[in-house]
Amino acid sequence: MNPFPLILSSPSGGGKTTIARMLLDRREDLGYSISCTTRAPRNGEVQGQDYHFLSRDDFVSRRARGEFAESAEVHGNLYGTLRSEVDRVFSAGRHVVMDIDIQGARQFVAAYPESVLVFLLPPSAETLLGRLMGRNTESPEAVLRRLKGARDELAAVGSYQYVVVNDALDQAFVQVASIIDAETVRHRRVPLLEDRVRQLVDGLDREITKYARAT
Ligand code: 5GP
Repeated sequence: MNPFPLILSSPSGGGKTTIARMLLDRREDLGYSISCTTRAPRNGEVQGQDYHFLSRDDFVSRRARGEFAESAEVHGNLYGTLRSEVDRVFSAGRHVVMDIDIQGARQFVAAYPESVLVFLLPPSAETLLGRLMGRNTESPEAVLRRLKGARDELAAVGSYQYVVVNDALDQAFVQVASIIDAETVRHRRVPLLEDRVRQLVDGLDREITKYARAT
């Protein structure tokens, strides 16, 4: 298998974290790249599991040392993907699931052009607002900031290879899983394809000769 990065982006409340969790729970061939962030943990979030929560100083000095494959400021906080996280998942032979914003996705693709980009669209503005308010963890100002961010993020849909409308969660999950399956058998990702085809051709040549002699 030739593992690849799978980038899931959507406005906050678009469901990417939920879908990423479902994929990771149900598929052995995936691993999660745990991002770094300077935002404070939300209730229930675990250090080193949901995120590596870093101070701004620590984040900035790691960034200066070139530790990040991409980083971006989102809603007033810094977020970034450590190169070491991507390597960790790849070396386990797994595709890397990444829940990153559109600025980060752009930088990441420049560094890892084999990335597969999936944009999750919320079915409606009302649904998005409902999901954000349902979290009960954000101030009204933060909700407003995320809604405004969502409007801007939608402009990036055109640069994603796949778009999945997250109306019914199970269906959106199946669609993203199908994208992974299809990408796995892309021509350029099939391991040792040329050798395989050459062996088949050689085998066929032998069979043709044998068959022709026998008839
Ligand atoms: P949240 O604070 O709700 O967990 O995430 C806010 C936004 O930051 C989401 O759009 C999420 O995709 C994005 N994000 C999370 N991790 C990263 C990362 O490592 N890099 C970038 N660029 N964005 C990230």
